[in-house]
Amino acid sequence: MIIKKISILLLFLSLFTPIFPIYAAKTKVVTPKPVKILLVPGHDSEVWGAQYGNMKEATMTLALATQIYNILKRDKRFDVYITRDSNGYTKNFSDFESQKDAILAFEQAAKKIVQDKIISGDFIPKENAPHNRASEDVALRLYGFNKWADENKIDAMIHVHFNDYPRPDAWTIGKYKGFVVYYPDGQLANSKESTGLAADIYTQLRKKYASSTYPPEVGGLTPDQKLIAIGSNGTLDAKVRSVLIEYSYIYEKKFRTSAARKQSYKDMASLTATGIKNYFFPTSP
Ligand SMILES: [Zn+2]
Repeated sequence: MIIKKISILLLFLSLFTPIFPIYAAKTKVVTPKPVKILLVPGHDSEVWGAQYGNMKEATMTLALATQIYNILKRDKRFDVYITRDSNGYTKNFSDFESQKDAILAFEQAAKKIVQDKIISGDFIPKENAPHNRASEDVALRLYGFNKWADENKIDAMIHVHFNDYPRPDAWTIGKYKGFVVYYPDGQLANSKESTGLAADIYTQLRKKYASSTYPPEVGGLTPDQKLIAIGSNGTLDAKVRSVLIEYSYIYEKKFRTSAARKQSYKDMASLTATGIKNYFFPTSP
């Protein structure tokens, strides 16, 4: 009897409910939401990453990411955020220490899901190109960026870096050259969407630059499972695309003089922004 009553009620509701969505669809003016981009200039003034001579990676990533920021900022189709500017970490990213417990809980919960999948055979861990292990503080910050990106429904994170490998000292010019775009391995939730974005950025950079000669990066478009930045341990939602670009090895000629650096930042920023625009708006020029 109750079932009968419920089914009558459902029938009754189904007669009326379609009216509202149709009405809503007719009256609502659809304005597409801007695409939300989070730029992450790699490292910071305390832990500056690679170094060639007196040139520090964190200074270079900030210079380049700021130029990408400025290009996208002028385009109304984008809503752009950046984690650092010349004054240090920006508003939303300056205080992760007070959120430490929440970020660690976020990290642990995500890791637990992946660990369970590894046990059940649904996730197969892989060895990727070797990376420097992030210190606890750096890892906290990177997971903090991911948590913020998930919560704020960021459409794409762009991590800006310059490459290096162990050399005898800061003044030695190394043997590897070229750029690489890292994107999340196929088993990570955000892989599918990130792959297209990585490919569009790669296509632009490849117009002017050669891709990496370092064997694990050969081809210049490399999947990875371990980099926190692109969502390792399942810490980025499926719609939060993330790519990490190593724009060149830090000791390369195109960064050795101030004039050469200036030109390289300009070219790299413009090509990256075009790649991002082509991915989100395929018909744009
Ligand atoms: Zn780096």
